[in-house]
Amino acid sequence: MAGIYLHIPFCRQACSYCDFHFSTSLKHKDELLDAMKRELLMRNQELKIPLQSIYFGGGTPSVLSTVEIEELIDLIKSNFILDTEVEITLEANPDDLTKEKVEELAKSSINRLSVGIQSFRDADLQLMNRAHNALEAEESLELISKNFELFTLDLIYGIPGLTDEDWERNIRKALSYNPKHISAYALTVEEKTALEYQIRKKKVAPIDENLAQEQFFILKSILEEEGFEHYEISNFAKDGSYAINNTAYWKGEPYLGIGPSAHSFDQKNRSWNISNNAKYIKSIRQGVLPLEQEQLSVWESYNEYVMTGLRTMWGIRLEELKSKFSEELFNYFIKSSAAKIELNILIKEKGSIYIHPSKLFFADGIASDLFFVP
Ligand code: SF4
Repeated sequence: MAGIYLHIPFCRQACSYCDFHFSTSLKHKDELLDAMKRELLMRNQELKIPLQSIYFGGGTPSVLSTVEIEELIDLIKSNFILDTEVEITLEANPDDLTKEKVEELAKSSINRLSVGIQSFRDADLQLMNRAHNALEAEESLELISKNFELFTLDLIYGIPGLTDEDWERNIRKALSYNPKHISAYALTVEEKTALEYQIRKKKVAPIDENLAQEQFFILKSILEEEGFEHYEISNFAKDGSYAINNTAYWKGEPYLGIGPSAHSFDQKNRSWNISNNAKYIKSIRQGVLPLEQEQLSVWESYNEYVMTGLRTMWGIRLEELKSKFSEELFNYFIKSSAAKIELNILIKEKGSIYIHPSKLFFADGIASDLFFVP
């Protein structure tokens, strides 16, 4: 499995909680897209196995026209080896999704739309400074569900002012459009964001971690009742519609990240492009990849493998662990997981060790207890 991630670093406006790399000015969009095409050509030998996924993330890729998106896909198709079936996902925001745009996208090579709904309540959307309102959220889903067989939507819980009843209404509203996939994240306060400032200045109430945890369990219970599998800490899928792109990350498969701030991984080295549009364009024009690289030590790779594996319902496949790492690390995992198996926090079954479904919310803490510290 291999994938290409394209980072489109433009947004209509800055959401108050966001610390991703993006610009709200589209002035240099053409130069940026040109540089991304050049980067694709410069790196077309880096993935040695067929691509199963192309993912447009950001930023807000739906600010691009369908023609601009298709040009990037065509370039990938003619310069990389593709599997017979490739998941091509575009992240989109409701305010970009007019009827014409959705119909155009449905006719394009995009076969999966990921829509940033976050909430169906205007109060939440305003608090987070989203560019869309509740009506646009509903209208976009109406259109998407008529035009796309496969789509996913993002929701946010733990928002100050969002009660459990509001949250349940948000979940049920989302379900009314019959998505096969839902991602849901707790609102987090990142450093140097507007949200952090607003909380510090007491303009917004702080995040209530207990409420967030409660809302996570409401989400899990409703979605499982509706036939969704909780296959990763923040992701739920119906009828096996797991996100191919993200599943490949969690399983440690290689991917190539194109565009400013995009990360790549070749199963040994991790690299990341510069998070600055102007410097990215300049460097690519000079024929230099604007990236930094680090080689993961064996134990760093092991810790990452344990962390990402345990965040999923598949957990750690012991045969795979054995084949990827030394006997010492394998034995370390078996030994360090034993007490948690005893306590029913971890389950050992059919050659795998995974977190008990009721404990998945605590996956990061559980996994870090199993880290190897040299
Ligand atoms: S649309 Fe997405 S990337 Fe852009 S500011 Fe909002 S959360 Fe960040």
